[in-house]
Amino acid sequence: MKDKDQKPTTTVEGSPVSSDEFSLTVGPDGPILLQDHYLLEQLANFNREMIPDRQPHAKGSGAFGYFQVTGDVSPYTKAAVFQPGTKTQVLARFSTVAGESGSPDTWRDVRGFAIKFYTTEGNYDMVGNNTPVFFVRDPMKFPHFIHSQKRRIDNGLRDHDMQWDFWTLSPETAHQVTILFSDRGIPRSYRHMNGYSSHTFMWINARGDRFWVKYHFKTDQGIENLSQEEADRIAGEDPDYHRRDLYEAIKQGNYPSWTLKVQIMPFEEAETYRFNPFDLTKVWPHGDYPLHEVGKLVLNRNPEDFHAEIEQAAFDPSNFVPGIGPSPDKMLLARLFAYADAHRARLGVNYHQIPVNRPKCPVNSYNRGGAMRILNASYPGYAPNSKGGPKADSERYPELAIWSVSGEFVRSAYTKRKDDDDFIQPRTLIRKVMNEKQREELVSNVVGHLKKGVSEPVLERAIQYWRNIDQDIGDRIASKML
Ligand code: NDP
Repeated sequence: MKDKDQKPTTTVEGSPVSSDEFSLTVGPDGPILLQDHYLLEQLANFNREMIPDRQPHAKGSGAFGYFQVTGDVSPYTKAAVFQPGTKTQVLARFSTVAGESGSPDTWRDVRGFAIKFYTTEGNYDMVGNNTPVFFVRDPMKFPHFIHSQKRRIDNGLRDHDMQWDFWTLSPETAHQVTILFSDRGIPRSYRHMNGYSSHTFMWINARGDRFWVKYHFKTDQGIENLSQEEADRIAGEDPDYHRRDLYEAIKQGNYPSWTLKVQIMPFEEAETYRFNPFDLTKVWPHGDYPLHEVGKLVLNRNPEDFHAEIEQAAFDPSNFVPGIGPSPDKMLLARLFAYADAHRARLGVNYHQIPVNRPKCPVNSYNRGGAMRILNASYPGYAPNSKGGPKADSERYPELAIWSVSGEFVRSAYTKRKDDDDFIQPRTLIRKVMNEKQREELVSNVVGHLKKGVSEPVLERAIQYWRNIDQDIGDRIASKML
């Protein structure tokens, strides 16, 4: 039956077509004609529907919402987004790390926790994880680390032997690996996990005073995790378990939220703190730097077009705003280049003009041209000019106050400080934070993983790795491997 209000199918150029079902042929049984450009348009588009996966963080999910400031951190930052009472629209994307875009959500893995704040001073992005630390502290090792977690070059399989080979040769991974194999290594859902900036950032207040900060998004739903058995079952039954959970919760009006708290270190204390506060494999103990409440992140709107709004969402830690800047964390400094570059490679040079990535404040950039650009710089398109074009305002927007350094050019680890040991913090986590049930689960998770394909000499190194973290846990793992 024909509905008079039903829209006619058109070509991509808007011209109505006569059939959704039949190609244009010479008689009902004859060959297809090259002039059937509507068929050609469909086949050609189909061949080009897929864009490359993110490398890593390919499988993810996202939603829109807002960030409402509830505390007062104005003594520490002048950033408009964090001034008392301010409400800002946000986009959040959560993800696994190593799996491809169709991989199960419940594989043991770190989870990405990325937020884009559409602020009045430009987009501000935080690209964090559900853990407060990371596997490596020098970006030179990053591609190698990811390769060890992904598929083998020779047979296309993932390989636990390769993973433990890298981890045991890189003792700085011990803290993150301990968290990964703890009960928090498989969250029950994206709603039931915390998010951490992991990196240290610089905050600058209206007087120009500088502070170091770390962000903690604490889930208001409470921490809940899946056991290895539950996760294995769900991976088979519903690989999109976390994506479905987030979508359904928001659809039902059960909006997930997180409370943002920050740790704040006075600028000068970084020099003398007992370990390097910019080392991404370490946390700042709460006893030294307590949490200050900033505000609430609430997700209340699902995407309507997953490809346009989530697959093409481009988060970039170099998207800073006045009042927030980088720290000398080597991993962060490399990410300031790598993220924008990844988006250029994957989405094209004008990825920031895709609607989901577009700032909601005026953009007065001199950039021009390039594939898929839809808004160009306006006349005259160069600076300086006497034609009324934009002009940088160094009084209102001075260069971010940055730290100062001097030294020879070297390739070196960070200078060692008193407590710069790879095993102290994971040992504290095991001995002081975990209860006996969690320690049992840690042992069981490690043993289960080692038993799937890890062989000598990597196996022996793995046992020693755990003994270095905690002698008792190492002994318990060794006894179950016999
Ligand atoms: P605290 O007792 O003040 O904090 C312990 C922290 O551990 C809490 O934030 C808690 O999160 C978190 N936690 C609990 N279980 C786990 C787990 N299985 N995996 C990861 N984190 C967990 O002690 P400290 O600040 O002195 O830190 C002690 C150790 O706790 C650190 O060495 C580090 O391993 C871990 N940790 C520390 C964090 C920090 O920023 N200081 C952050 C997260 C972990 P929650 O509040 O959700 O219960």
